[in-house]
Amino acid sequence: MKVKLLRYTADAELLCGTAASTSIKREGPSEIFEKMDSETAKRIIKRVTGYGHVSVIEHAGFTFSIEDVSRAMTHELVRHRIASYTQQSQRYVTYDTLEKYVTPPSIADTIEAKKMFDGTLEKISETYQKLLKLGIPKEDARFILPNAAKTNIIVTMNARELRHFFNLRCCARSQWEIREVATEMFRQVKKVAPALFENAGPSCVELGYCPEGKMKPSECNVEEIKKRFRSL
Ligand SMILES: Cc1cc2nc3c(=O)[nH]c(=O)nc-3n(C[C@H](O)[C@H](O)[C@H](O)COP(=O)(O)OP(=O)(O)OC[C@H]3O[C@@H](n4cnc5c(N)ncnc54)[C@H](O)[C@@H]3O)c2cc1C
Repeated sequence: MKVKLLRYTADAELLCGTAASTSIKREGPSEIFEKMDSETAKRIIKRVTGYGHVSVIEHAGFTFSIEDVSRAMTHELVRHRIASYTQQSQRYVTYDTLEKYVTPPSIADTIEAKKMFDGTLEKISETYQKLLKLGIPKEDARFILPNAAKTNIIVTMNARELRHFFNLRCCARSQWEIREVATEMFRQVKKVAPALFENAGPSCVELGYCPEGKMKPSECNVEEIKKRFRSL
């Protein structure tokens, strides 16, 4: 798995600070932006988003490359609708070797399971290649490929959607692969726009308690999770 923040809105915090100030000032956004400094932007973003007016952080966009992840993971990722995606196509790219599959750690760590998993994937690979040799188009041969098939995707989300995405997908209740991706995305955006992602992370970090009720995983300690995400 490789996650890389490729580009993000220049002066993201100054811009969102400008947006937050625009509603309460006589001057226009261009003049506010000219005068805006980093400390003022941070302060006003915190105040305005604290009131629940989070639309001001929608002006900052972040684009990530997410590589060598499973189709199972990207299927979960694309459920997040306030985003733009472009994914490697199984209609154009041919799958060949076993390396092009993700092995979940639970399977990798269990000898018997790993043997069955690899054996099945080898069989799938062989059949896929045979289908192509029979002249079956890639778009049809791919019907045999598993959720484990590796893929690449590029995603752009604004800061508001990213915060929501982190609430759900950095949470211990989410699946391990999307959780790893989301946590890495969080770590990278926090570095470049700390004010936009202050107090962000899984829901419990923002709320101070776990909203999952009876579904809360027994290993979760909200205070420890808060500490961990604030130090990332
Ligand atoms: C632990 C976990 C388990 C899950 N299990 C399942 C499962 O078993 N089956 C399943 O199908 N899905 C499952 N999901 C996916 C989940 O139901 C959501 O589809 C996914 O998390 C996207 O989140 P979202 O809809 O809040 O937000 P996004 O699509 O990211 O949208 C952000 C916000 O925009 C608003 N919004 C977006 N679109 C609309 C709209 N059309 N109408 C009104 N408001 C809108 C909502 O406020 C939404 O919260 C699971 C997710 C998690 C985290």
